[in-house]
Amino acid sequence: MNDKLIECVYSKKCGGCDYCGIPYDEQLQKKHKELVRLLGKFGKVDHIIPADNVYHYRNKVVGTFGFTRKNEYISGVYEKNSHRIVKIDDCLITDKTANAIILSIRNLLRSFKIRTYNEDTGYGLLRHVLVRVGRNSGSILVVLVCASPIFPSKNNFVKALRKLYPQIESIVLNINDRKTSMILGERNINLYGPGYIEDTLCGLKFRISPQSFYQVNHEQTEKLYGLVADYAGLAGKERVLDAYSGIGTIGMTLASGAKEVISVELNEKAHRDACRNAEINNIHNVRFFCEDATKFIETVDDIDVIIMDPPRSGSTTRFIDAVAKLQPDKVIYVSCGPDSLARDLAYFKKKGYAVRKITPVDMFCFTKHVETVVSLSRKC
Ligand code: SAH
Repeated sequence: MNDKLIECVYSKKCGGCDYCGIPYDEQLQKKHKELVRLLGKFGKVDHIIPADNVYHYRNKVVGTFGFTRKNEYISGVYEKNSHRIVKIDDCLITDKTANAIILSIRNLLRSFKIRTYNEDTGYGLLRHVLVRVGRNSGSILVVLVCASPIFPSKNNFVKALRKLYPQIESIVLNINDRKTSMILGERNINLYGPGYIEDTLCGLKFRISPQSFYQVNHEQTEKLYGLVADYAGLAGKERVLDAYSGIGTIGMTLASGAKEVISVELNEKAHRDACRNAEINNIHNVRFFCEDATKFIETVDDIDVIIMDPPRSGSTTRFIDAVAKLQPDKVIYVSCGPDSLARDLAYFKKKGYAVRKITPVDMFCFTKHVETVVSLSRKC
């Protein structure tokens, strides 16, 4: 029995960890039960692959900044369903150094006279701080999300922060001047370092820029990608489509076993990272396209295996129509949204694809979220 328990003083207000206070084994049972409810009609749902480390697994942390009526700087997360900031000094599921960096930045603000952004008035500068830690490389990227590009005494601020954390490899000023709940704006200004970090995953090196998607749980991602490779069962002759490819991680881990990989990703910055990542790793049989996956798939032919890893909202019927036309032998669907997965699997079934395997991986301990890998193939 694995009865790891989280004792979190913020849980009631923060709301990030729905399964706080619930023993780990019970969390897995709850997730499995929910998956059976949603996906059971398509086939057997395997046992969830559990995490070995359930604490401090998140390699990405976002701290939202504010200033209270008591003249106190605070950082934390928005209270559930509100825009009030819950002050958090330490989080039990996020990387320890990342937590410490956010706290140190909070402590530096007063001496640098940096004002935090006020959502109601639109005044102030610092909105959020995003910290990403390369789990294997140890490199750290700090993104200061500000309402304006003018950051007072920025050189001294960078110096002070780097003195505290010499392992910081890049500090980026991201400009977000819109009234939006999106964390990052479009524009980045490098304050220190190259503006990205590198990390190794499944033995390959990956460059990660502020706007690029990168799985938050390193250890579990390696297990997840291992499953994808297993289910793809490549023999070296296949043409593989990696749709919703992010910085190219899945396609690149499969490339050595395939004839060719074609990857498509909508986010321009992630696409750029993906192109660089193939170069860094000397991979020559992957091509990258920056486009909407649905539009793109309607233009390709001769695909043997499709990997699809859409955002939580899932894919589109047009995408699945195009898959059915291409008639690949196998489709591997990686999903972080069981509801949209159930919807899309129902459509796949209509289009002549049967579910062969459903394997969940616990990437998000203490939250209700779960990642699922589904292997589909054409009905004979
Ligand atoms: N497979 C990657 C990324 C998965 S996250 C990994 O494992 O790291 C989902 C990705 O889909 C994100 O990078 C997002 O930018 C991208 N995306 C979202 N909508 C898209 C669309 N319509 N077409 C192509 N890519 C899209």
